Amino acid sequence: SNGRVVIIGGGTGGATAARYIKRASPGTEVTLIEAKPVHHTCYVSNTVIASLRDLDDIAHGYDGLRALGINVVIDKATAIDGEAQTVRTEGGETFEYDRLVVSPGIELKYDAIEGYSEAAAETMPHAWIAGDQTTRLRDQIRAMPEGGLVVLAPPPNPYRCPPGPYERASLIAHYLKAHKPGSKLLILDSKNAFSKQGLFEQGWEMYYSDIIEWVPESDSAGGVTRVDADNMTVHTPFDDFEPDVANIIPAQRAGRIAIEAGLTDGGDWCPVDRRTFESTVIPNIHVIGDASIAAAMPKSGYSANSQAKVTALAIAAYLNGMEPEADPRFANACYSLVTPDHSVSVNAVYKLKEDPDAPAGVALDNIAGGVSPIDASQTYRRREAAFTESWYRNFPKDIWG
Ligand code: FAD
Repeated sequence: SNGRVVIIGGGTGGATAARYIKRASPGTEVTLIEAKPVHHTCYVSNTVIASLRDLDDIAHGYDGLRALGINVVIDKATAIDGEAQTVRTEGGETFEYDRLVVSPGIELKYDAIEGYSEAAAETMPHAWIAGDQTTRLRDQIRAMPEGGLVVLAPPPNPYRCPPGPYERASLIAHYLKAHKPGSKLLILDSKNAFSKQGLFEQGWEMYYSDIIEWVPESDSAGGVTRVDADNMTVHTPFDDFEPDVANIIPAQRAGRIAIEAGLTDGGDWCPVDRRTFESTVIPNIHVIGDASIAAAMPKSGYSANSQAKVTALAIAAYLNGMEPEADPRFANACYSLVTPDHSVSVNAVYKLKEDPDAPAGVALDNIAGGVSPIDASQTYRRREAAFTESWYRNFPKDIWG
């Protein structure tokens, strides 16, 4: 055989890596370890929260990867031994690897907001990892009274999906407009600027001027710093709120397994050599997706997929006695719906750039791209909404099959 690869995490990064390693090097034994039998994508989950789709519409299983000859193990990875090159699981199994790919996504820093916790998130959902949390937030919005208040607290940078909180605000407002007349949505931000801000604000002015209010960090002196889930109160240093629904999205860091393995080097995210996404802390381990520090690339599914492909080809090269591509390109595209018929996007292409201050001396440089034009017609916005739909019909097929 052409070696053994183990992958931790069957989300966007890990499942893409599994597929593309097997495709590039069919003789390699590929084992994918994923904690959950079904993955719910975070992308497009905002439409579930707004009752435009069902949770099942964003569910992806692993039969497509099994059919390619990938060994899919539904279990939780609990320990990585970088010396012995093994991964242990909760189920008591040990897997040996020549190369390990780690794509565990994020862990929420619950303690970043006083009073917030995993238990508090049952009352004040974050819905930043899709699944139960998504339907919990949806159900709360469905159950709230007319003329009610939703508070949405976006996280500080860096976090998974920079435009995500603002797409969510838009789609929740879309639901409120139709089903909960007189309701308000207050965005209590921990930042003073955000992704695609001009485009979102233009859309909010067009559709939701009496619903959405965005409060920058400078107006609240810190955004949401404290919550009391038992009494449904949300606090900034200046004000107290009693919302009907509180969507609290705390700061984030790399998934726990990456932290416990030492791959974050004491920080929140994993430094990598951008040529191959190999860890600069532990050799033969590649960290991709949200958990990695990918310089200019945002933490997105599209980024994770792009990084997974470059990494898969590098690993296939190593296992077949070749050198990885010296000058790979990476890409990102993120669509955000303002209404189901009005979408705005950001796109970028990246290449490697020498930089003595970057991990392994290599940065990622944004060499092309841009955002939707601010003065586009409604036809243009509608066309981008169609692209958003078509992207979700195609993209998961490139990952789970
Ligand atoms: P994930 O896809 O989260 O996968 C991690 C997987 O690892 C999970 O399945 C988890 O169960 C598993 N796992 C973790 N730890 C272990 C362990 N110890 N053992 C076994 N398995 C484990 N991106 C876009 O490109 N476009 C969008 O429009 C977009 N919209 C978004 C909207 C929202 C509301 C949110 C929250 C995110 C959005 N994103 C979007 C971002 C995108 O979802 C993430 O960037 C992407 O999922 C990252 O992939 P990943 O592989 O790093 O992590």
